[in-house]
Amino acid sequence: YAAKADGGRHRRYDGDLDDRAGEEARLGAELRTALDAGEFHLVYQPIVELPYGNVVAVESLVRWWNPERGYVGPDVFIPVAERTGLIVELGEWILRTACRQYAQWWRQGVAPHRFGVNVSARQLAEPGFVDLVAAVLAETGVHPARLVVEVTETAVFGGGAAVRAVRELTELGVEIALDDFGTGHSSLGLLQTLPVRVLKVDKSFVENVTMAGRHAVIATSLIQVANGLGLVAVAEGVETAEQAAELYRIGYRRAQGYHFGRPAMAQLTTAEQVAA
Ligand code: C2E
Ligand code: MG
Ligand code: MG
Ligand code: MG
Repeated sequence: YAAKADGGRHRRYDGDLDDRAGEEARLGAELRTALDAGEFHLVYQPIVELPYGNVVAVESLVRWWNPERGYVGPDVFIPVAERTGLIVELGEWILRTACRQYAQWWRQGVAPHRFGVNVSARQLAEPGFVDLVAAVLAETGVHPARLVVEVTETAVFGGGAAVRAVRELTELGVEIALDDFGTGHSSLGLLQTLPVRVLKVDKSFVENVTMAGRHAVIATSLIQVANGLGLVAVAEGVETAEQAAELYRIGYRRAQGYHFGRPAMAQLTTAEQVAA
């Protein structure tokens, strides 16, 4: 049989799986320790208005620096934290830290109009998540309308607890943004039924927007859908002036990306706002 003749390769494949499972378990355990050791911090990236680039919001992004591993990206550790369940506690820390920071900017008179916090699927579906958001807003004195909860299409696609949470958050006055729009299920039906206010158009469509082609067509279609439904579309991952100009030409009025500002520590973000 092929499996037998192929035994060596299968064994090696299993070995890789074991290694990967081992590495994932190690990472999971380290994340737990890292949270207690204060190894996480947040950075903030401006979201700007086109064409002038004035800052209208910031998105908070979590960073993990570990003495042995160095920087590990959220694309790597957030999925692990989701699987181990640590995301619930880590997510609470992220939410509270971002709200405290926003309250501080507010007191300093440099707060942008809104701030975004990414919430993962598991966190959103966790019982008590909406109560937690309400409690943290109350505790930090942040008005609910200042907070934008960024969720992915995939997190709300299945309906159920996540969708209920989205509705309850909206009732609280919190805004919902659909993140990485166009890369998940991209169900336009979601836009019809969910109280979403912001569509974050994934950077894969923004990347090639200056070249005639499929991505440009999709970027154009998505801004028309958003405008038609009265939603705000944010173009993600804008890296060049040419992209920004083209996005503006086809109707985008919000953008985010290295061209306008990299994710930065709170102090730097504030300095940028003051300068802007
Ligand atoms: P996202 O929410 O879509 O965040 C945008 C990502 O694009 C960030 O990567 C940001 O640094 C990156 N980015 C911004 N501008 C540009 C650009 O011009 N070019 C390119 N190539 N990239 C750009 P980051 O910080 O590595 O985060 C990756 C993903 O990890 C996020 O995607 C989000 O899904 C997740 N994540 C980050 N922070 C958190 C968090 O606090 N909580 C949760 N649950 N997830 C988070
Ligand atoms: Mg996001
Ligand atoms: Mg995104
Ligand atoms: Mg993303």
